[in-house]
Amino acid sequence: MAVVIIGGGQGGFQTAASLRAEGYEEHITLIGDEPGVPYQRPPLSKGFLLGKQEQRHAELRPAAFYETQRITLVTARATAIDREARRVKLASGEQIEYDTLVLATGARNRMLPHEDVFYLRTLGEATEIRQRLSAAQDVVVIGGGFIGLEVAAAARTLGKQVTVIEGQERLMARVVAPVVSEYFRNQHEAKGVDVLLNATLYRIGDKEVLLGERTRRPADLVIAGIGVVPNVELAREAGLPVGNGITVNEYLQTPDQRIFAIGDCAECPSIFAEACVRLESVQNAVDQAACVAKAIVGHRAPYTAVPWFWTDQYDIHLQMAGLPAGFDQVVTRGDPQTRKFSVFYFRGGRLCAVDSVNRPADHLAARKLIGARTTLSPDQAKDESFDLKSAV
Ligand code: FAD
Ligand code: NAP
Repeated sequence: MAVVIIGGGQGGFQTAASLRAEGYEEHITLIGDEPGVPYQRPPLSKGFLLGKQEQRHAELRPAAFYETQRITLVTARATAIDREARRVKLASGEQIEYDTLVLATGARNRMLPHEDVFYLRTLGEATEIRQRLSAAQDVVVIGGGFIGLEVAAAARTLGKQVTVIEGQERLMARVVAPVVSEYFRNQHEAKGVDVLLNATLYRIGDKEVLLGERTRRPADLVIAGIGVVPNVELAREAGLPVGNGITVNEYLQTPDQRIFAIGDCAECPSIFAEACVRLESVQNAVDQAACVAKAIVGHRAPYTAVPWFWTDQYDIHLQMAGLPAGFDQVVTRGDPQTRKFSVFYFRGGRLCAVDSVNRPADHLAARKLIGARTTLSPDQAKDESFDLKSAV
């Protein structure tokens, strides 16, 4: 028996660690194409850019952990999967045999058709951006999603002039309701960030960017956070089905019973979306890894963890629980003016997601409420005298 994991990021690391925690005794090989030990990405767009955290704070475990846990780290790129022979081929030509294979290949950045743009996914890229930030005056951020806004907050905190260029009509449009987008736009503008909505980059000139013939902004550093593309090529070339990610069932298994897929690269049925979804978050990668580790040691159960996310921008801590897709009603609990409020999303009368700004107790209650599929009403949600915990 041997487990091989392709992808040494959050999900790949957690699969190996959870396997050992579950008592798995056989060989574990973790193949990753980034140098060094596995690390987490969230600090890269937050404390690391600010100089408050270093590489060692991002590393998930020190090198000694892999030795004591008998996890073989292989720094190499996997180039093919031979499903018949149950072997993974590496770029070097070496081959590694598996009984069970876990694909945790993550995602890569979407790129713009312009040169001189920096992207943030890896520790190497974060290190380069951090160095360039210290010398920059005018920073232009393309994309008003999580990465763009976290980078904008860090750059502004470092005293840079910052412009955010977002293609949609509001910020973080993919993940939050208009009231939350508006709140974040106000907060960034209050800090002095120039937020341009419905805007697209047209050209990068000499120390400036152009958004059409007339609109231009000074720029000595351009950073893009315009979304990601899942790494599905290995799976596709091995004949496994791929949609908006590697297609897996509720047990995170591909149609090949020996191959699982987890994290940013995998698309699986979600009871919370009533559809197949591919999520991009630490919680999703960690909980899916734990679910697969259990299945490998014989405790197979469907993946049903409540999705949750977070982002930190300046002193604002936004926590999101559930999936708002398809929501048809929104109510707000608390007053955004107080900088502490939550937004409750309902789909067909049922609570489907909650975004909490600086209200961690609401977030914790929301995770339980959504997990328990409660019948909380919109009126109860917005009534601050109603104890959310009593509805769980
Ligand atoms: P990854 O962590 O991307 O790991 C995949 C690994 O596989 C990579 O190292 C990749 O190089 C490697 N790989 C791919 N193909 C191969 C191959 N063929 N051979 C060998 N290796 C391969 N999420 C949150 O919930 N909260 C946050 O605050 C947050 N902040 C973030 C900040 C940044 C800057 C970034 C980039 C992401 C952030 N995320 C955050 C998202 C979160 O980090 C990801 O959802 C999570 O890392 C996904 O884990 P994963 O294991 O699926 O993929
Ligand atoms: P994202 O959340 O998808 O946001 C990208 C934004 O950029 C979208 O609003 C997108 O609009 C917009 N955009 C796309 N092309 C553009 C263009 N040419 N010009 C201007 N705007 C454009 O992705 P991200 O912020 O890049 O994050 C990448 C990954 O890191 C994601 O997996 C994300 O979840 C993860 N991450 C998570 C956190 C967190 O959870 N706190 C923090 C950082 C990163 P369209 O939707 O129209 O394309």
